[in-house]
Amino acid sequence: MTDPIWLGFDFGGTKLTAVSLRVADVADAPSGWLGQRRTFSPPDGDAHFDIDNMIQMGSALATGYVVQGIGVSFGGPVDFDSGTVLLSHHVPGWEQMPLQQRLEDAFNAPVRIDNDANVAALGEWRFGAGRGCDHLLYVTVSTGVGGGWVLNKRPFRGHGGLAGEIGHTVVDPNGPPCLCGKRGCVERLASGPYMAQDLARRMGIPATAMSGKQVADLANGGHADAIAVLDRGAWALGVGLGNAANLINPERILLGGGVTKSGERWWNGVQQALAQTTLPEVTVDLLPAQFGDDAPLWGAIALMLVDETAV
Ligand SMILES: [Zn+2]
Repeated sequence: MTDPIWLGFDFGGTKLTAVSLRVADVADAPSGWLGQRRTFSPPDGDAHFDIDNMIQMGSALATGYVVQGIGVSFGGPVDFDSGTVLLSHHVPGWEQMPLQQRLEDAFNAPVRIDNDANVAALGEWRFGAGRGCDHLLYVTVSTGVGGGWVLNKRPFRGHGGLAGEIGHTVVDPNGPPCLCGKRGCVERLASGPYMAQDLARRMGIPATAMSGKQVADLANGGHADAIAVLDRGAWALGVGLGNAANLINPERILLGGGVTKSGERWWNGVQQALAQTTLPEVTVDLLPAQFGDDAPLWGAIALMLVDETAV
């Protein structure tokens, strides 16, 4: 067997997933992976440990095949053009790491690397709920709020690769302080941990006793404080999305991440704030993303399929 395959990696900080897909299978919407492996980083791990791990997992998946290319989704800032990881917020040793070069040397195949939000957006656009659309905004709402753009059927990274940071756009300048140093960011109001923290404070219980999922469960069960917190989160996200829609005019917005499982009340709240924020002439479809946690893996494969030389 010497079939050509793509390899895809998703490095989230504590978890590393590797997948393979036959190049021939990419043409007709693939239903699953040829191979898949997953490991967890030890608490005392570092970048070198993780890179060795990537090479081992990739080599195991590639046994008996020819690697045509490798896409990597990295949970942290990446310089796409040079293939360099700038840093990881979770694991030491990643500062200015030339990961693309390391993997190209190991596998003797072309490698592309981008941050997880950009890659997930690309995965949904190429294989998921964003198919057939020219201009897409993908936003994940979970422990944080991040986003990625596909514009004119290509990833849009911006100067420095930071386009899509919708989580730290401000929707309430007088709102509560966010970790980033500003007030009233979308992430500060709409992310799972922050909603949980706000509800715990209202209820006078320790923040550790509450989760984002519990906020949604309590709200959907009629708990007044939980409703206030969940509704405010949905409102904040909808305003942020509406501002983004007014600015860039995407055709479709996809929402993924754990908070999007909060139920109909939450979705209606987001939709309503979005509609109130966009100009009447600005229309955009708001839909759930298709892949959940697998979006960065599909995007890692899609990274290799984009013609980066096209204008
Ligand atoms: Zn912020």
